Amino acid sequence: MALKLYNTLTRSKEEFKPLNPPLVRIYTCGPTVYQRPHIGNLRSFIAWDILRRYLKYKGYQVYLCQNITDVDDKTIKGAREEGVSLREYTERYIKAFFEDLDKLRIERAEVYPRATEHINDMVQLVKKLIEKGYAYKSEGSIYYDVSKFKDYGKLSGIKFDESKTVSRMKKDEYSKDEVRDFALWKGWDEEDGNVYWDTELGRGRPGWHIECSAMSMKYLGESFDIHAGGVDLIFPHHENEIAQSEAVTGKQLARFWLHCEHLIVRGQKMSKSLGNYYTLQDLLDKGYNPLGVRYLLFSTHYRAQLNFTEESLKQAEKSVERINEFMRRIKTIYPNGEHNDELHKVVLEAEKKFEEAMDDDLNMPLALSVIFDLIRRVNRAIDEGKISQSNLNEVKELMMKFNTILDIMEEKEEEELPQELLRLIELREEARRKKDWETADRLRNQLLEKGIILEDTPQGVRWKRKIK
Ligand code: AMP
Ligand code: ZN
Repeated sequence: MALKLYNTLTRSKEEFKPLNPPLVRIYTCGPTVYQRPHIGNLRSFIAWDILRRYLKYKGYQVYLCQNITDVDDKTIKGAREEGVSLREYTERYIKAFFEDLDKLRIERAEVYPRATEHINDMVQLVKKLIEKGYAYKSEGSIYYDVSKFKDYGKLSGIKFDESKTVSRMKKDEYSKDEVRDFALWKGWDEEDGNVYWDTELGRGRPGWHIECSAMSMKYLGESFDIHAGGVDLIFPHHENEIAQSEAVTGKQLARFWLHCEHLIVRGQKMSKSLGNYYTLQDLLDKGYNPLGVRYLLFSTHYRAQLNFTEESLKQAEKSVERINEFMRRIKTIYPNGEHNDELHKVVLEAEKKFEEAMDDDLNMPLALSVIFDLIRRVNRAIDEGKISQSNLNEVKELMMKFNTILDIMEEKEEEELPQELLRLIELREEARRKKDWETADRLRNQLLEKGIILEDTPQGVRWKRKIK
């Protein structure tokens, strides 16, 4: 089945085909490092982690570029308030960002370019925009003239009245329903303190939007497959990125534009500026488990709002525990049932349904319900003794395959028994079937000498390691 993704640009689910298969090039807008990320930011990063892992599951090769915004109005303000250098200030939050990624098992991107390390790339891009007539100077800064770009508004659907004059905006963020000429290069002013670069464009610093155009072009080329971010970035940030990049290249910046809905608390977007946020560390300090947080953040469809409550986090932890408990069960049981063909079909069907759900715009809630359904069916088969070793192996393999996406299995892998010991268990089972109790007992003792205790249960034999 083909993967379909909802493309904000066309406002429809479209079949995903990369420009240069098997490679998929993705750009996601990364953190603005003026504070630790909150779990709303982390939700969007997890959404793209799931996307990345599922593309790999389908056999694609992924090249992901995620920028780090380490210079903008907020980072400068923060550094100045503390009286430290911008670098010293942002370094701390970059470190925190990577720590959180690791705790949540978010796979690392291929490259994390920082804005401050790509100033010249941005300057060159702004120069091209000036040459092509899309940018103009005003009071020491350089602005993008949105009226020159005929497709302005194609992503967000925002309309602007051509009869009205467009105002200019130097700040990085501005009203969501107003079209404005935006800053490409901000001439130095006192508020910037010692943060500036002396360049061909004069003394100053880049506007926020230009970094993504410059860095995506540098690492992914002029056109790439997927551009992703939270819904708050559709306008103006992504609209402006399109205007900047496409005006210069004449090519489509990204084929697919994916946007993740917000994590909300009591009806409001979780945000640093509203102060209604939790960081991952806040939750860990309260005793929650990072795998529960990971589960919670991916278990709602990425295009639906996720209402955060501690109750829902507790539920998520329970789900993680159920899956791990099931894995422990199937790894330590040695069933003696006949091959169950019906169960074999259930496993094949689960794989198919999981993939259908994921192919449908990464429908995680549905994919998870398929997994829990499988768990129920297999547990029942074990309880009833209607499962063979080969059935069980199939289940284990499929669960491990699902886990390449979920990645919520406990670190401490239940060890598998070495083949020769498994063989002894098998021989003992055979002896028991033939009612050859003497051989069965001998084999049991042999295993005991090797530290393995056998327990005969109605569902088959289970093994445990002897505690020394
Ligand atoms: P920022 O660090 O503010 O630049 O945001 C980093 C990413 O987090 C962006 O893709 C935002 O769209 C996303 N984001 C910010 N707030 C939320 C939220 N409450 N829920 C989901 N994503 C968010
Ligand atoms: Zn961006």
